[in-house]
Amino acid sequence: MKDTKIFTIDKKNIDFSKIEEAAEILNKGGSVVFPTETVYGLGGNIYIANAVKEIYKAKGRPSDNPLIVHIWNIDQLKELTEEISEVAQLLIDKYWPGPLTIIFKKSSNVPESITGGLDTVAVRMPQDPIALALLEKSDVPVAAPSANTSGKPSPTQGKHVVEDLDGKVDVIIDGGDCKVGLESTVIDVYSNPIMILRPGGITLEDILKDVENVVYDPSLMYLDKGIAPRSPGQKYKHYSPKGKLVVFKGLEDRVKEEINKEGERLTKEGKKVLILTIKENIKYYSKGIIFNLGSIKDYETISSNIFKALRKADELNVDYILSESFSEKGLGKAIMNRLIKASGGNIKRCDN
Ligand code: AMP
Ligand code: MG
Repeated sequence: MKDTKIFTIDKKNIDFSKIEEAAEILNKGGSVVFPTETVYGLGGNIYIANAVKEIYKAKGRPSDNPLIVHIWNIDQLKELTEEISEVAQLLIDKYWPGPLTIIFKKSSNVPESITGGLDTVAVRMPQDPIALALLEKSDVPVAAPSANTSGKPSPTQGKHVVEDLDGKVDVIIDGGDCKVGLESTVIDVYSNPIMILRPGGITLEDILKDVENVVYDPSLMYLDKGIAPRSPGQKYKHYSPKGKLVVFKGLEDRVKEEINKEGERLTKEGKKVLILTIKENIKYYSKGIIFNLGSIKDYETISSNIFKALRKADELNVDYILSESFSEKGLGKAIMNRLIKASGGNIKRCDN
């Protein structure tokens, strides 16, 4: 067990003495959890083999699942790759710092331990002021996967990290809620067509405004359908709450009707049920505990609440989670990707 230090830092009034202490620990090969605008990241210096090993160990993450490298300035990118394509540069100019991870051909500086043996490296410049301050102070590229135990829902609040990693890392910086609440969009701009390997806060529709010929990795929304995902992490069981999650998909009225029926049936059996619903539909449900994901008009709030809801389900020890579905346009694609993965593909069709 490690004696984990927990630093609470206010994003709007950053205590730089704490950032300095955390950066020093990072530089010496320690593990530091920090908030980003997507989810919390578990950071380690990519140039210290033991630091990388500690990340995989603390998370219980399979070693062939590569890590995203976090940087705070463009010079660091030149250390990690020798080739920045025109499309990559355009996306960097438009979306960095921000929730977009770009896959590059890796330079010889990048250790294979963080790329899972691939010859490519995933890089992102986060936007969160605490993340940027920490990366600037330490000034080394930092590998930082989501700071959860592998398989569990990603952490979007400091308390989620403490639940999973207290005693397993050197520092946890609690910086409050994560704005986006879903992991970054991962894009491979060197493939033809250009492919989104993981949907996130920057949407396909956003990217199509400037770049042609972009598609989603066709394996994204399905599990075990015989199509190998291009992003190694997508093949693992993900984001799973302890209770059984069922996603109801189809005609809106039928979805509400089926959730209600199932909620009543399970409650009668003595099961504890959590219903994930948009604000507008709360009034339709008669049984179970209601989790209000936000208004249908505000997908940003809904996305920031998805992991919070799955963590809440664990906290309440519910047996079942019954969730409504969302349009797969824009941010809805990332929301549905996480819900479907978290359910292990457990979708209840409500078409007629
Ligand atoms: P996480 O670290 O939990 O945010 O997950 C990172 C995601 O990025 C996983 O799905 C990885 O498989 C993916 N990833 C990281 N590096 C690469 C790479 N070089 N090529 C493709 N996907 C990658
Ligand atoms: Mg993750």
